[in-house]
Amino acid sequence: MFYLFKNFTQMKILLNKTSLTKSLRHFSDIGFVPTMGSIHQGHLSLIGRSNQICHKTVVSIFVNPKQFNNKKDFKTYPKNIKKDLKILNQSKTVDFVYIPKFKDIFKNNKKTKIKLIKKDKILCAKFRKGHFEGVLDVMDKLTDIVRPNKIFMGNKDFQQLFLVKKYLKKKYNTDVVGCKTVREKNKVALSSRNYLLSKENLILASKIVRKLINVKKSIKNKKNKNKYLLTIKNDFQKQFKIKIEYLELRDINNLKLTNVINTSRLFVAYYLNGVRLIDNL
Ligand code: AMP
Repeated sequence: MFYLFKNFTQMKILLNKTSLTKSLRHFSDIGFVPTMGSIHQGHLSLIGRSNQICHKTVVSIFVNPKQFNNKKDFKTYPKNIKKDLKILNQSKTVDFVYIPKFKDIFKNNKKTKIKLIKKDKILCAKFRKGHFEGVLDVMDKLTDIVRPNKIFMGNKDFQQLFLVKKYLKKKYNTDVVGCKTVREKNKVALSSRNYLLSKENLILASKIVRKLINVKKSIKNKKNKNKYLLTIKNDFQKQFKIKIEYLELRDINNLKLTNVINTSRLFVAYYLNGVRLIDNL
């Protein structure tokens, strides 16, 4: 692993919590960007925000097996640590990269005691059993280790942001800052999972997101918006030959189904060639 570290003058790489804690002990204004690697511009935008607001920025790279409800999905999740470190170093906005091993974070592989309440078992939580419990578990552990003042997370994973904010608020004195979704020119939201898609898939993803942007506009005139979205969902499934898990208009403050456009977002999850994509508009 040490060959990876050469030439990084400002950015320090830390492989365990002891060295991380030691390195951070003199700093009080820490911004934290947790990631699962395969770094792209979306991650870099969160890091940029942290770099603007906080004195030091810590980025973690850890593909958390506990949040995968599907073994194959975990195995095929794109990983490229060497490239990630190069990009992070070149950005000149990262002070510390924390790359822990499973054991550094979790004592064992036991199922977490964290449970979602019934009203949170919607959207991704409904379709990916145990996923958010795994996310909250790792965010709890990482926050405890890094002790950041602020955590920067993407609106792209809105439900994740919502649940993490709610969970951490009870335990830590840390702000969770939601950041804007970075998109390709063709409107597709950047995601590490996009690396798993072919060119044709990406063109289709772009068609789908553009159509959804129009749906969001046209929905204004519909009386029962979520009923209308069910028809759209069926049409899309037939037209694009895709499996859509959900297409729902939900309130951004409580994630309840809503008919009010101003305070809502259109949430979608679908499979493209076996790859699960999510977005919200
Ligand atoms: P991940 O590595 O996919 O777990 O993502 C790490 C963080 O980056 C999460 O807070 C995501 O919401 C955020 N993120 C992922 N994609 C984007 C994007 N396209 N724009 C902004 N933030 C993103």
